[in-house]
Amino acid sequence: RTVYVNGDYLPENEAKVSIFDRAFLMGDGVYEVTSVLGGKLIDFDGHLKRLDRSLNELDMQKPEAFDDLLAIHRELVRINDVTDGMVYLQVTRGAPDDRDFVFPDPETTKPTLVLFTQSKPGLAQSPVADKGIRVISIEDLRWHRRDIKTTQLLYPSMGKMMAKKAGCDDAWMVEDGAVTEGTSNNAYIVKGNKIITRALSNDILHGITRAAVLRFAREAQMEVEERNFTIEEAQGADEAFITSASTFVMPVVEIDGVTLGDGTPGARARRLREIYLEESLKTAI
Ligand code: PMP
Repeated sequence: RTVYVNGDYLPENEAKVSIFDRAFLMGDGVYEVTSVLGGKLIDFDGHLKRLDRSLNELDMQKPEAFDDLLAIHRELVRINDVTDGMVYLQVTRGAPDDRDFVFPDPETTKPTLVLFTQSKPGLAQSPVADKGIRVISIEDLRWHRRDIKTTQLLYPSMGKMMAKKAGCDDAWMVEDGAVTEGTSNNAYIVKGNKIITRALSNDILHGITRAAVLRFAREAQMEVEERNFTIEEAQGADEAFITSASTFVMPVVEIDGVTLGDGTPGARARRLREIYLEESLKTAI
């Protein structure tokens, strides 16, 4: 596999980042994951805009190659012959000479930019989506700037492990009695014709897939209600699902051991998955 590091396309085993890199020492980095379907990038503009916002919120400078990011994504997809899969991008505050809590001088320490691809043949035809996933609930113990897509992923990673140990697929995080989001996705419930999901704030990541799916839901005459919901309300809902760039729309069929409906993916979740895949392919670049 060929990867990209600070201007160079290299075999992955020759790519190097300093041990003093701020992301390695302090989790001082931001990232994006863009899906590839049929060799094309899904929702690329949305991911680029969110990257820009994450950098701004953290007072991190843009990598020199910021304006070339589309070309770099495309080049990696081409070189690695990715049909279905994803492109991972990470920007860090760079590698100063020493470890220090104070941000390094942006004049002398330039950001690190790394991209790599992962092939996932048949990504859109996920057999998991036909069955739906099972989630557990856990307390949301993350920091309070979840709107910034940082590489500080230890707690979400622990959450996934808790789910795995419980024989489930993912965890929904709960704060002050309300669901915030999944470990790596936004969370939704469906009641009748209504799609319910938490409103945007610093409490959750502003999902690029979320924005698209809510737009498609409205266009398909579904009602959208952006508000908090509890695990108890979710367990009594008609359907539930999650969204993310890598899972698109994924039905949820069980929450903390309680089966939703007849235990199979709900009609609206399935419809939204279809619409999302169809519509987002039209604007893929
Ligand atoms: N919330 C969290 C915590 C995430 O990590 C992700 C995926 N990166 C999402 C939501 C979904 O965002 P997107 O649709 O942009 O992938």
